[in-house]
Amino acid sequence: MKGKLLVIGFGPGSNEHITERAREAIQESDIIIGYKTYVELVEELVTGQEIISTGMTEEVSRAQEAVRQAELGKKVAVISSGDAGVYGMAGLVYEVLIEKGWKKATGVEVEVIPGISAINSCASLLGAPVMHDACTISLSDHLTPWDLIEKRIEAAAQADFVIALYNPKSGRRTRQILEAQRILLKYRSPDTPVGLVKSAYRERQSVVMTNLKEMLNHEIGMLTTVMIGNASTFFYDDLMITPRGYQRKYTLNQTEQPLKPHQRLQKNAEPWALEQFDTSISIKSEEVAANVKASTREIAEEALLAIFGESEGVENSFIKQPIQSIFELAVSPGVANKKFTPKQMMTLVEVVGEEGVMEYTQDHHFKLQIPTSDPDRVIEKLKAEQFLLSPVGDVLTLKACDFCEGEKKDSIPFAEEIQEKLGGIELPKELKIGFNGCGMACYGAVKEDIGIVYRKGAFDLFLGAKTAGRNAHSGQIVAEGIAPDQIVSVVEKIVQEFKEKGYPNERFYKFFKRVKRVQGFEYQDITPSIKIEAAVCGD
Ligand code: SAH
Repeated sequence: MKGKLLVIGFGPGSNEHITERAREAIQESDIIIGYKTYVELVEELVTGQEIISTGMTEEVSRAQEAVRQAELGKKVAVISSGDAGVYGMAGLVYEVLIEKGWKKATGVEVEVIPGISAINSCASLLGAPVMHDACTISLSDHLTPWDLIEKRIEAAAQADFVIALYNPKSGRRTRQILEAQRILLKYRSPDTPVGLVKSAYRERQSVVMTNLKEMLNHEIGMLTTVMIGNASTFFYDDLMITPRGYQRKYTLNQTEQPLKPHQRLQKNAEPWALEQFDTSISIKSEEVAANVKASTREIAEEALLAIFGESEGVENSFIKQPIQSIFELAVSPGVANKKFTPKQMMTLVEVVGEEGVMEYTQDHHFKLQIPTSDPDRVIEKLKAEQFLLSPVGDVLTLKACDFCEGEKKDSIPFAEEIQEKLGGIELPKELKIGFNGCGMACYGAVKEDIGIVYRKGAFDLFLGAKTAGRNAHSGQIVAEGIAPDQIVSVVEKIVQEFKEKGYPNERFYKFFKRVKRVQGFEYQDITPSIKIEAAVCGD
């Protein structure tokens, strides 16, 4: 009978976090070999197997014993906490086998069973600190020379990896974590978030949020994993979070918005992308590339210099560069007012700056994209100039006419009330309300998702225009003469219904066509005599 080696990672230590296969493997084994504490942790799964437990430092003899027993025909479970392939027993078992000339085809069978490693279990307790490129470094210099460990810390620190430090400290090894901190501080700010997780998912679990400067003032031991954030990691409500992307992008009412693919692919949205290098900063990067000795760090610094300019100072800027967010919002002079004052234009120039983007859109507003770490300040400045601010994205926008330069002013308060109550609210898809102050509707209210036209002291209501495409059409008139004291609440209810029942990404006209009736207003099926084929974007 041929034996088998089952090299098992049993996860952080709690029963729920062991994989099904690991559980089975322990149960189907004849012998369990592992470090004492580990054997205790899986005690519940032991059903009469022989147990060989040894001390911490006897890893090699454990591996040798496991191989010997397997060669005698036993099914041997070699257990490691976390994952057996991460500073665990998997490598050692193979090394012992190889030493003996073992071959996959003819030797004892080996199965390595994956488990949740400390970097993952600890991350889950901290929030989402890993998220981006990360590495693990073990500070144990029992089997690895310290100068190599030092080099790895240095490299990871420089390259802005999130770092999970395993084996940070033990009774006798106390200096390593101090040295690690010293190296990290050469490249990262003292207030870089650090999470200390001890005994994740075990009885004496503890989670501490601290920073690079303060971390040694807390207890760190053999059962701690030290999670070092990268330059953009932040704390929020006792959670440690690393943003997924290099820059965070947000607008007024959504703190984090994923960029839509077409936005992401725009060059101005990704100044750091490789593609950019052969255009805007080609000369410098070519020079750097020509210098074969240039390190990645130098190339990156060169890139940052080209993007941010000399003024930022390049010394350590690669790492210390504060990660700004792109704040996105829309501005206009007002609901009815279409005129910018010179002072407003100057304020726009000031807040948008050299780095920002100001885009004139079809929605009667400028869309601003401003790299900033202080969006509140931007809002403050714009509000001081009486700008009307609204978020961008799948939100409601109101496009009103200019009410004949304010002459036909009777319905302006209603437009303003709708803006006040509904402007900027999030919806399944962007929705535009057109609001025109007389029956001429010269600003095209009937061509918006919802059209409101003031006429003879009351309001006409149009729903479901298709605003673009070869088969574009106006909205259907669903009511005439809605009383002024009714109009705002009627519109509010329609929008509410769309918010509740619209499918994600469903345009209002499609929604109206699908549900057939919104707030009692019926959809009329008017099929044009010629069948108009819809054209896709770019057709
Ligand atoms: N194979 C294991 C790592 C073994 S090295 C794994 O993949 O997780 C031992 C180190 O792992 C400890 O010093 C500690 O840094 C980390 N560690 C293991 N289990 C842990 C737990 N439950 N909580 C926190 N850290 C843990």
